[in-house]
Amino acid sequence: MKDIVLIAMLLFLVGLRSKCTFPMPSMSKINNIFFKIFKRLHEVYGPQYWWPGQTRIEIIVGAILTQNTAWVNVEKAITNLEKSGVLSVNKLLDIKQDRLAVLIQPSGYYNVKAKRLNNFMRFLAKEYNSSLDNMFKETLPGLRDKLISVNGLGEETVDSILLYAGAKPVFVVDAYTRRIFCCQGLIDKDNTYQQIQQKFMTHLENDTELFNEYHALIVRLGKDVCRKKPKCNECPLLDLKM
Ligand code: SF4
Repeated sequence: MKDIVLIAMLLFLVGLRSKCTFPMPSMSKINNIFFKIFKRLHEVYGPQYWWPGQTRIEIIVGAILTQNTAWVNVEKAITNLEKSGVLSVNKLLDIKQDRLAVLIQPSGYYNVKAKRLNNFMRFLAKEYNSSLDNMFKETLPGLRDKLISVNGLGEETVDSILLYAGAKPVFVVDAYTRRIFCCQGLIDKDNTYQQIQQKFMTHLENDTELFNEYHALIVRLGKDVCRKKPKCNECPLLDLKM
């Protein structure tokens, strides 16, 4: 009987692995609702191949420009930077702020965002000798604290940079995360960013790929279904609600 149970468990785990490319979580982490939601979203939407950017500096620029705007506008701004040949660390260190503002105009709030980009570039130059390699060699908590001290970089932007450009295992929380997980009864609407982040990081394996894919899937659900006016009858999480 024991052998049958063991074989059944092994088959379950092998089946799970064939659908999912992430490291195998422990049983306690498989059984929790946070992983079940991830698994459901992954089954429904498949891999999202995030972040949409080719280089670390492009990802960082995108993370800063995406504040308060749709991604399609960020893409236009990034295309302008690419076409002008300034989408590199060296060029962004040299470019004048007002010229940068013109190039990123499609992303909205372009003067503010040009200043934020400039703040980041000056931080990179001062703290890490203009090297992203040096910057990402820092420990996760150390680098997170430093990035948050850069004027204009909030927690969501910093965590996006750490996760998607630096491959550091940190969970990104955004407005979709709040809306979806409040609805699921898993977080409180008054929870702080850090309280929400801590919940995910406590209940999930500490794994960069998992955090990468999970956030991307949350954004997918938020854009497709859980909008400001949610299409709850199409929601793939309805039966998982607590
Ligand atoms: S779409 Fe509706 S049911 Fe689904 S998470 Fe959003 S609010 Fe909840």
